[in-house]
Amino acid sequence: MSDTAPKISFVSLGCPKALVDSERIVTHLRSEGYELVKTHAGADVVVVNTCGFLDSAKAESLEAIGKAMAENGRVVVTGCMGAEPGEISEKFPNVLAITKPQAYESVVEAVHAAVPPAHDPFVDLVPPQGVRFTPRHYAYLKISEGCSNRCSFCIIPHLRGDLVSRPANEVLREAEKLVKAGVKEILVISQDTSAYGQDLRYAASPWRDREVRAKFLDLSRELGDMGVWIRLHYVYPYPHVDEVLPLMAEGKILPYLDIPLQHAATPVLKAMKRPAAQEKTLERFAEWRRVVPDLAIRSSFIVGFPGETEEDFQALLDWMSEARLDRVGAFKYEAVRGAAANEFPGAVPEEIKQERWNRLMAHQQPIAERIQKGRIGRRVPVLIDEVGPSVAKGRTKWDAPEIDGTVHVASRRPLRAGEIVTVKIEAADAYDLRGTAVD
Ligand code: SF4
Repeated sequence: MSDTAPKISFVSLGCPKALVDSERIVTHLRSEGYELVKTHAGADVVVVNTCGFLDSAKAESLEAIGKAMAENGRVVVTGCMGAEPGEISEKFPNVLAITKPQAYESVVEAVHAAVPPAHDPFVDLVPPQGVRFTPRHYAYLKISEGCSNRCSFCIIPHLRGDLVSRPANEVLREAEKLVKAGVKEILVISQDTSAYGQDLRYAASPWRDREVRAKFLDLSRELGDMGVWIRLHYVYPYPHVDEVLPLMAEGKILPYLDIPLQHAATPVLKAMKRPAAQEKTLERFAEWRRVVPDLAIRSSFIVGFPGETEEDFQALLDWMSEARLDRVGAFKYEAVRGAAANEFPGAVPEEIKQERWNRLMAHQQPIAERIQKGRIGRRVPVLIDEVGPSVAKGRTKWDAPEIDGTVHVASRRPLRAGEIVTVKIEAADAYDLRGTAVD
């Protein structure tokens, strides 16, 4: 650290995709000699990467900007809310700049204008894998930007544009750097992971001694050969997803799929304009579980979508009973400014949304508990995330960081974060597991 280096305080809000954007911005600024500081007060400039997906996320973003203005006063705003700068400049006319999501150059330019970089060509400040905000042993890998779907409740395509996939060799180079830097788990993210490469017409790019197509299966296979845990998020049940199940059966990819289904009743799915919405999802799940008996499926649902009737909601609960998902997240529908669904008739009153949300969570609880209890007695690999004085916390292959459950691990020997240990599972509830390290 140098006393003369310009200092930045960075706030990253929103989803894992926004986190990856933040990492890229910070990596760039670090390469130019900027230092990151933990408090706004000690910084030359504050960058706030906002999330504007839901009104509650917007409120959180505005609060973060307000805090940065109060504690520092020199603030650059970027991210999803930057696509509609009016609301920010109205509230905070003195912010230095507002830039759009993905506009790395304009964030960097705005920071340069606020405080120029200190030039020190002899010091390489950035490790080759870049700067990451996640713990050292896991990392998010973004394989594309934007989305070519047009779900009626979502403004991501408006904010971020249509799908733009990164060439396969670029993604693989980044994955290789992460592995070399000690990452043990790579979480593949995008808006629509299974659509990867469609925009590139699946063009191949040179990687090592071969050509790799920008295709979900081909990329998954190459990532699966990297010798670390590979977890797939935001996968839609397109037919070609079936092809990656054998990779899971072989142990190359984690037996885990994060599939945001949002609903199960056909009229609601149609109104939502969901990709790959089809009635056959249950049969697909059954077939996937036949190929990969240990498969964990995670999904999220929206309750109270405009026009959702009690019958639709009941159909969702019935579907959940049959689908037996390992993990479920639920959201009450919130109107997002600019989304087509705002104009739909049949708005569901807030108290009914809340009541349906409670019912959905209560419905899922025994399903999850039963699955979890079925794991008691098994010996399973656990990736240690955090080490405490007596018990360490980790995750199984069935659990992603932040969103899923934890394993509380007792051990006779000291454990290290990032280590994979075999744990005998001794107790379970609907969310977490407990066990003892046996190696
Ligand atoms: S798939 Fe639908 S919800 Fe997801 S980003 Fe694309 S348009 Fe939005």
